[in-house]
Formats: sequence, structure tokens, C-alpha cells
Amino acid sequence: GARVGVLALQGDVREHVAVLEALGAAVSLVRTPAQLAAVDGLVLPGGESSVIDKLSRTFGVREPIRERIADGMPVYGTCAGLILLADRILDGLPTQLPFGGLDVDVRRNAFGSQVDSFEAELAVPALGEEPVHATFIRAPAVERVGDGVEVLASVDGRVVAVEQGALLGTAFHPEVGGELRFHRRFLAHVDRVSGA
Ligand code: GLN
Repeated sequence: GARVGVLALQGDVREHVAVLEALGAAVSLVRTPAQLAAVDGLVLPGGESSVIDKLSRTFGVREPIRERIADGMPVYGTCAGLILLADRILDGLPTQLPFGGLDVDVRRNAFGSQVDSFEAELAVPALGEEPVHATFIRAPAVERVGDGVEVLASVDGRVVAVEQGALLGTAFHPEVGGELRFHRRFLAHVDRVSGA
């Protein structure tokens, strides 16, 4: 069966593992190229995108992750993970690079600093009628959406959830609120792409 990984360099790794296991997925932590090679899909957690970027280079997984994304591996990024998945980062640190793959520009800390963290009930029609209770923590927003990218949700006119093929990104953290539907959608991509 399919196995999914959570990139475990920094950030809210445990929360993602808990949601994926609650959905019945086989989950492993990914810190090395060999661990990456053993998974059919990857979650990029929330945390600090510049730190995850730096550690990914230190651990030698940045280029392998870029190659797997180019090969069509399903990826779900939340918050810092969305920043890492974007083709372009606005307001990033000068040396900060994304993995890329998702044809969007993402602005870091688009809603202000830590004090501006907030929660919202979001309509996400692609997930059904029940709104998503979304937690935003120093959250990014998507400022440019490429042609092949579908907007799944917005808040105050800002795009906060997107999907492009098997790449899924949210500016908020479903993994901290007991929301399972985004991870279920990611796992469906994994099953489809891996033929499981
Ligand atoms: N502001 C953080 C960053 O730029 C993201 C915050 C988060 O993941 N909750 O990486």
C-alpha cells in the first residue's frame, strides 16, 4: 500500500502524523534522501519556512524533493509548507529558497505578526458544505495564482487554499483543529498517483 512521509526537519510534524494516522495512512518521518525515496507522498508542515529551507539543504533533501515534485509526487503544504511549495516567495529572507512546484507567488506573514494570528470559519466548496475551522498563525497568503491552479478558499479577499494537480497548499493549519478533510484529499491524490 501507499506510504506517506512528513518532512521532519522543523515544525508541527507530530500534529500531521496524528491526522494522517487517524485517517489510516502508513506514515514515516522524512529527513534523508533514502527516507524520501520510500514514500509516495509528502507533507510539508507548518513552522518556519526559512529554517526548513536551510535544514533541507544541510540534510541533502532539497534537490531530491524538487525532483520528486517534478515527477508528480503528491505534496500537501500547510503554512510554512505552502511557502516552501510555492514557485516564488515574497517577503522571504534574502537567502531563502522554496522547493517550488506550485505555480503561485506566496507572501510570508501576509496578515501581520504573531499578534495577528486568528481563526476563521472558511467556506471550502471542494470539501463539502460544512465550513472549515481554520487556524492562521503568522500566515502567508497567495498573491498570484497560475493558470493551472484552483483556488479552494479565500479570506478577506486573500487566497488561502490552492490545488494544482496533486499539489495542495493551505495558509492555515487543519492539523491543529481536528479537520481531516484536507489530509483525506491529499491521501486520495497519493492513492491515485501511486495506483494503490
Ligand atoms: N511565518 C512562517 C514562515 O514564514 C509560517 C508560520 C507557520 O507555519 N505557522 O515560515
